[in-house]
Amino acid sequence: MLPLYLVKTDFATTLKHAGLSVTAVRLSVLDVLTHHPHSDASRLYELVQQQIPTVSIQAVYNNLHALVEAKIIRDIKPKGQLSRYETRMHDNHHHLVCRHCDSVVDADCKGVAPCLSPSYNHGFTIDEAEVIFWGTCPSCQLSTQNGDR
Ligand SMILES: [Zn+2]
Ligand SMILES: [Zn+2]
Repeated sequence: MLPLYLVKTDFATTLKHAGLSVTAVRLSVLDVLTHHPHSDASRLYELVQQQIPTVSIQAVYNNLHALVEAKIIRDIKPKGQLSRYETRMHDNHHHLVCRHCDSVVDADCKGVAPCLSPSYNHGFTIDEAEVIFWGTCPSCQLSTQNGDR
């Protein structure tokens, strides 16, 4: 893992390239999100607060929104759940979501994006497929089995 100051320098460059001002909260959001991918806004708020005690939840929401708009981070919206965020972008990877504990993990794309094609594309050129696989994670499978006994 990169030392923190290097990561932050890198993020500062990313923000500047996207035309966003470099703020402590933005750097902190990107920093914690790198270490805690697929977190939702309230979890990120807790983590940013550890670095910047005066931060407000609204500031975290606003910055998440700005970073998504600038395509610096990605939001994942599993149906019926809070949005999750991650810094891993542009690789067409997918997600596995546990129906029981809401855990989210990355599922790498098998081929070149889009790795899936619809049966009919309606004349669209398609550059990305975003897939959410729903199921039961290994630890929930175990606790379900234990519960049956
Ligand atoms: Zn689970
Ligand atoms: Zn992911």
